[in-house]
Order: sequence, then structure tokens, then C-alpha cells
Amino acid sequence: MWRSCVIGILMAAGVLLAWGCSQSPQFIARPEPWRAVEEQACLASGHVRSTPYLQARASLGGPSVCGAHQPFEMAGAAGGRVAFRPAAMLRCPMIPAVERWVERIVEPAARRYLGAPLAEVKVAASYSCRPMNNQWGARLSEHGHANALDVSAFILTDGRKVDVLSGWWGDPRERAFLRAVHHGACGEFTTVLGPDYDRLHRDHFHLDLARRVYGNGRVCK
Ligand SMILES: [Zn+2]
Repeated sequence: MWRSCVIGILMAAGVLLAWGCSQSPQFIARPEPWRAVEEQACLASGHVRSTPYLQARASLGGPSVCGAHQPFEMAGAAGGRVAFRPAAMLRCPMIPAVERWVERIVEPAARRYLGAPLAEVKVAASYSCRPMNNQWGARLSEHGHANALDVSAFILTDGRKVDVLSGWWGDPRERAFLRAVHHGACGEFTTVLGPDYDRLHRDHFHLDLARRVYGNGRVCK
């Protein structure tokens, strides 16, 4: 119910905005014009088109700083070979990155380390208008811009399920598969966080396309 509960408080001459409502944790967000520019360029490129498993949706976020202009609901990847459950809500630039990761990294790794084709990716989170790590007063998460995907498990065509929580330190084949999938994601996304990062990520991989001005702009942990 953001339309009724947003209470934006202007701080520091409009540089910082604190948003929230009684039901939701508040967060800090900065004006970031690059997001709209990047999304519009992606949409105009024509590289991301609706398919039976990729549906364009109405804009997200209403009057708040969250959301995306024209997000997509991604119910599958790799030509529909791999299901995403539940479907992920993602902004345009995330779609090609997720597609490349699934086709070039995850599918080959499933065959190589687990001996079976990949059937499904378990989506733990995608769009969510909330602060980082759900901590009150933290910066708005990339999830708030539909610019992030959390994956908790992978299911193979033979029914086997490999989840991040038990597999990261579990069966050697699952460990090898999950590390290959995590490492490979670092070539497609600017942020990749897994169980080695902190306890909050012990049961999922967080993938996003955040922009950073420090270091090489990438975090891979
Ligand atoms: Zn996440």
C-alpha cells in the first residue's frame, strides 16, 4: 500500500530521501537518473521481447522511489527449457544477464557436475521495495529497483534438488556445481553474494546489476 503510506522526508536539500510507512521498514534512497536511462536504452534496443515465459508488466512502484518503468515477469529461461519458480519480476537489463548465466554457466555446470540437465531455478526473491537486508534505515536494496534476483535452489530433470543451504558445504558434486554457478555469475552480474559473504546469504545467491564507483565496480563473494 505504498500509494497511501509513503511519507517521503526530504533531507539534505533533496540529496537523500527517507521513505517508509507504518507497515514497512524505512530506507534511504538517492536520486539515480542512470537507472531510468539504462532501462529505457534496454527497452529500445529490442533485445528483450515478450515470449510465453517472459511477459512485460505494468510499471512498478507508483509514487515511491522503488520500481521499474516496464518490468518483465520471467517464468523461464533458455528458450523455456528452464523454469523459474516462482516467476521473477525483473527490470529489462537483468533479463539478458540472467539468460546468459543460465545458458552459459548453470546448464553446462549441471550436466558437468551433476550429470543431468537443469529443469528449474528456485527464485527466493526478486522485486521488493525494502531496505538492504530488511534493516530499518538502510539504503534501498537493488531488489527495490527490480534489479536483483535471489536464487535458493536448482532442480534437475531427474527430480534432484540442489539447494544452496545444504549443498554449499554438502555433497562434493553439489559443492562443485554451486561454486561453479556462483563463480560464473560474477562474469554476468556486478554483485554476487553467497554463503561465504555472510549468514544472511547462507541459503541463497544474490545477483544484481548495481553500479558502483569504487574498486572495479564489482563485488563477488
Ligand atoms: Zn537479494
